[in-house]
Amino acid sequence: MVHEAAMATSSCSRCGRPLKDPRSRAMGMGPVCAARARDDKAMSMLPPGSPVVTVNGRHLHHVVRHSPTGMEWGYGGSGPADLARSILLDYLSRCGSGLRVRAMPGARLGKRGRERLVDQLYQAFKWDFVARFPYESWRLTGPEIAAWLMQTGLIESVPALPVTYEGRRTA
Ligand SMILES: [Zn+2]
Repeated sequence: MVHEAAMATSSCSRCGRPLKDPRSRAMGMGPVCAARARDDKAMSMLPPGSPVVTVNGRHLHHVVRHSPTGMEWGYGGSGPADLARSILLDYLSRCGSGLRVRAMPGARLGKRGRERLVDQLYQAFKWDFVARFPYESWRLTGPEIAAWLMQTGLIESVPALPVTYEGRRTA
């Protein structure tokens, strides 16, 4: 009987919000919480002190170029270069038509255009932010990123989105 009760619940076991979808009820968790639970499980398998980077609470996708082993911060190496690139690619992918570059006024940048733009910017972004992040933890917001992008001189407009990037280490 206890088992059956656990199999179909009306509220999320992680956040307590009511569940409407039958699949969520069967899982006992909403889709957002289920994804976070998967992230937590993946994190619990990392060695202590491993870097964890999130965007609005979800794991940031590591776009690999310099550092196949992972993203890092606090110095100027390959892990920090990949973190800088991954943050900028993620942020610009959220900007939609709000992102305009001086070189192509009026044009909406696609994925390739954003990658080309990021390739011009990420090393400077690394030195200005990622290389300076404290070892234990850090936080960077959309308005800070947008302000930095504007001062590069390459950007005509970019929205200051309500996005938060955070880094910390596993216990
Ligand atoms: Zn939930």
